Amino acid sequence: MDRERIVIADKRHVWHPYTPMDEYMERAMPLVVGRADRSRFFDADGRSYIDGNASWWTSVLGHNHPRLMKALCDQARSFCHVPLAGMTHQPAAELAQELVGVAPSGLEHVFFVDNGSTAVEVALKQSVQFWVQNGQPRKTGFVALEGAFHGETLGATAVSGVDVFRRPFEKVLPRCEHVPFPGEDCDQAIQALRNLLSREAFELAALVVEPVLQGAGGMRVYDPRFLSAARTLCHEHDVLLIFDEVFTGYGRTGPMWAAEHAGVCPDILCTAKGLSGGLLPFGATLTNQRIFDGFRGDSERALYYGHTFCGNPLGAAVALEVLRIYREEQILERAKSKARRIGEAFAKLGELPSVQSSRSLGMLGALDLKGGSGYLERAGARVCSEALRRGAYLRPLGNVVYIAPALNIDDSDLDELLAILTACVSAVS
Ligand SMILES: *Cc1c(COP(=O)(O)O)cnc(C)c1O
Repeated sequence: MDRERIVIADKRHVWHPYTPMDEYMERAMPLVVGRADRSRFFDADGRSYIDGNASWWTSVLGHNHPRLMKALCDQARSFCHVPLAGMTHQPAAELAQELVGVAPSGLEHVFFVDNGSTAVEVALKQSVQFWVQNGQPRKTGFVALEGAFHGETLGATAVSGVDVFRRPFEKVLPRCEHVPFPGEDCDQAIQALRNLLSREAFELAALVVEPVLQGAGGMRVYDPRFLSAARTLCHEHDVLLIFDEVFTGYGRTGPMWAAEHAGVCPDILCTAKGLSGGLLPFGATLTNQRIFDGFRGDSERALYYGHTFCGNPLGAAVALEVLRIYREEQILERAKSKARRIGEAFAKLGELPSVQSSRSLGMLGALDLKGGSGYLERAGARVCSEALRRGAYLRPLGNVVYIAPALNIDDSDLDELLAILTACVSAVS
């Protein structure tokens, strides 16, 4: 199919994610990707674009890393998929062992899933079932932060706090209490959590947070002190602590896990996105010994949960290779100078007249354009369409414009990305 026919078929039949479809069908001129390499896509017409958000935060090592392609092809030649029920295979077993080795210490058991939302869904179900069968059946509610994003299934939607994503489902969601985002007044957020847990811990199963950095909620950073306090409070009140590291894991914020900023270990940790280097849908939920032990004993105590493609051998083989590359190519160490460049550029961007505020953390830089806040604001979209015209792919979150490139993006591509962004933000103001 040529480019034009692809777009015709697309507009006739593809329902796009997060997309008002009227506007899309009338006006959008979508990029038609024909090929991708390192930190660039190539449109079917041959033009190249820098992938400014690592393809929705997944492609942490860039596109088509030769070692990942080889791991994928080698595994595909032996077998592509078998279930993880009553059998196992080397990629899953070895990956579980390696993940436990790199995870915050104390997480010992790995439940495989196939994306970030299901990694969170498992964590929520594990929490509820854990209490139901260990003497505290009333502990079924959740606590999360205002503005959180934890995925798209109903459980994950319940603990998320982005209003437009939640609103239509409000009446069918499990119970979740949201405490204030700790970004502006960390002590107030800690106090709110303390009050809530003192009052209602007997009905609360778990607190779930994106540690240090909220992603889809607007790239908002908060003080790791909140996490240390949350760890202590959760211990005191016997509420489980879940870290959703689907976005923050794999060095996005600097260290391998954002949990490391606070030096605390959750009871349950969710990972996906970077886990498989963006090649395949894959995810995992890691738990400590206590949670695992809560499911042992009689057969009715088991976790009767699983996804058809959980532990998929292709994904597991690639995920293993991702970890080896992180080690052998010293990805985190070498990202430090890139993170500094991002930090410097966003400090300068913060001074532009159209910019309300800017921030950076590790391999993430974000700014709020002046105007309203909220996911449906439009100024971010104008900056991003200007960026596309100049050769960079970005997606706004309302009036928040951010970059989250591959951790190993070439310095020259990173500089070009930052220059394009600066030009676009200036042009739109
Ligand atoms: C993307 C994301 C999810 C959902 O992951 P999917 O693979 O899109 O289902 C969950 N939590 C966080 C923090 C995310 O960024």
